[in-house]
Amino acid sequence: MREFISVEEARALILDHVSLLPVEQVPLDHALGRCLAEVLISQDNIPPFPNAAMDGYAVRLAEVQQLPATLRIVAEVRAGQSPPEEIPVGACIRIMTGAPVPSWAEAVVPLEWTEAGPGDTVRILQAPLAGENIRPLGQDVQAGERFFEVGQRITPPMVAMLATLGIAEVPVFRRPRVAIVTTGDELLDAGQPLKAGHIRDSAGPGLAAQAQWSGAQVIMRQRVADDSAALAQAVEQALEADVLVFSGGVSVGLYDLVRQVLDNWGTQWLFWKVRQRPGKPMAFGLLEGKPVFGLPGNPVSSALCFDQYVVPALRRMQGQQVVLRPRYSAVLEASTPKKAGLHFFTRGVARLGKDGRLYVRDTGLQGSNLYHSMVRANCLIHLSESLEEAPAGIEVDIEWFSWTMEP
Ligand code: AMP
Ligand code: MG
Repeated sequence: MREFISVEEARALILDHVSLLPVEQVPLDHALGRCLAEVLISQDNIPPFPNAAMDGYAVRLAEVQQLPATLRIVAEVRAGQSPPEEIPVGACIRIMTGAPVPSWAEAVVPLEWTEAGPGDTVRILQAPLAGENIRPLGQDVQAGERFFEVGQRITPPMVAMLATLGIAEVPVFRRPRVAIVTTGDELLDAGQPLKAGHIRDSAGPGLAAQAQWSGAQVIMRQRVADDSAALAQAVEQALEADVLVFSGGVSVGLYDLVRQVLDNWGTQWLFWKVRQRPGKPMAFGLLEGKPVFGLPGNPVSSALCFDQYVVPALRRMQGQQVVLRPRYSAVLEASTPKKAGLHFFTRGVARLGKDGRLYVRDTGLQGSNLYHSMVRANCLIHLSESLEEAPAGIEVDIEWFSWTMEP
């Protein structure tokens, strides 16, 4: 087991030790947010037939060179209908948006460029260009074309595209099943009144929410006392999951039993302690091949560790190639605490300045027990290990929290 490693080493070790989840087929209506398990190949051309981009008249170009041109309307085709395969000289058809354009037609003259002529005729006032207002076959997707990538997270526009391509069952990686176990004799449930020396378990609900936010399924969430037997039982139940997350009890205190109990279960530890603040005592290992995270109990520490380590692991397990959020350069508007030797995850509020640059300041006191430092933040400021101090004016890297909208 490695001890007191860098943030980058910790993340690399985690990502190296997680494996892809099994593939399952889900109905398209349930595919949103899931990660594709296969590159897909289109069976069809999209559009599947040339069709009208506007309501108007399908014409032959030679017959609309002398303007105004009077043409006889011999048919009307609506979307969903079939057009006549031939028409006489001097004729045209009235066509609606989305209706198939027959092969003899060279353009669609929009309604706005026409006026009614005598009887069944129409007067064309303006000549279209070749192909104008005809949406060609396969303009969007060619039959046989490969589209999307393995691991791509299905977005609403992707759902629409899958539908148009006739993919009613979508191959996706199974959603990661996460177990969350919070530990501490001092903890109460959110619904319980406070009593002497106790606080409410906030890490449990918070971590479960983060897991859900990142598309995982929380199959178990349990709060246990600092008691080896109770903890051992929780581990057994947690093994139903793909990822086990413990919070609290990973430090060096007398009642920090999590690592000990997981040891007894045969956990192979990969690291303990990361050169970071908050979250230094974080531990990571494998139990029955499953990733096990021992996060510190302080709610801000556990939230940041989950965000920075567990979420990338969940993404990688679903085949996602990019597991980290992008970082942007911002100007630090006011100095913020920093010391060399630890990577600081400082919570910040960033804004876009009139000069087009990003400006950021911290959210105030950064104690790992202070909820305000998290809930006020729209971004995370990365202050690298080697940085000795963080005075106003320096450039820092930030990343937006996944739950904030960029400014
Ligand atoms: P621990 O990591 O167990 O030493 O806990 C560190 C600090 O976080 C202590 O002040 C605990 O009371 C607090 N804490 C531990 N677990 C939770 C939790 N689930 N929710 C809120 N605070 C917690
Ligand atoms: Mg504790």
